[in-house]
Amino acid sequence: MPSSQVLSLSLPDYAVRVSPRCKRVLIKINPLGKVEVVIPRGFDPCQVPAILQQRQRWLETHQAKLKARWAEAPQEHALRPKQIQLRALDRCWQVDYVPGAGRQMRLQAEGEKLQLRYPRVSEEDADVLISQRLQKWLSVQARQYFLPWLAQTAEELGLPYAKVSIRAQKTRWGSCSARKVINLNRNLLFLPPPLVRYLFVHELGHTRHMNHSLQFWQLVEQHEPDYRRLDAELGQAGKYLPRWVHV
Ligand SMILES: [Zn+2]
Repeated sequence: MPSSQVLSLSLPDYAVRVSPRCKRVLIKINPLGKVEVVIPRGFDPCQVPAILQQRQRWLETHQAKLKARWAEAPQEHALRPKQIQLRALDRCWQVDYVPGAGRQMRLQAEGEKLQLRYPRVSEEDADVLISQRLQKWLSVQARQYFLPWLAQTAEELGLPYAKVSIRAQKTRWGSCSARKVINLNRNLLFLPPPLVRYLFVHELGHTRHMNHSLQFWQLVEQHEPDYRRLDAELGQAGKYLPRWVHV
């Protein structure tokens, strides 16, 4: 007799997504600890709980690691951060939260002080609304500071680009298309300035070489001799991101 009741007892909350490109079942845990199961088209979703149960130990270990990571710097990783440090700009904002009367989220900025008035909803909904509003604010900062910074770097290097846009990519710090359109991740704001500059040099290098060929790296080295160390560091730079950017 199948013991389906026991099976569903200790499973985490999860969402199922069907992906036509996916060839096998993938279990993903996002930085907030939410579980997503990606299944190929035609795969029976009823099989998902059994698969999750098989991977339960892995899931628990992974979620415990995340928890430990957020517990290390509770203030920085709070969903309502009291301060926001943007290392790229060498600036730090203090944030106040005030429950408001209206249904709208309102953000007021004065110097390095932010005040957020949030609607009277459940604490959990407020966390989400606040994180989203702060992310929007982040995009504005990124546009304001990165656009002139990139333009200046491009001029300095003699590597012009066609256009730049600020994105909220989950897995990339930046990209450059064949049409020389550069995308920059707004979360670069949390990184130390040398890493941001390296990313700029890297993407600008792609305006000339659309690959990672020897010629590309030679060009990068010409403008950033320390590129190997910086490239490795950029690969680990997710550690600089506070938890609320993942909501
Ligand atoms: Zn590249």
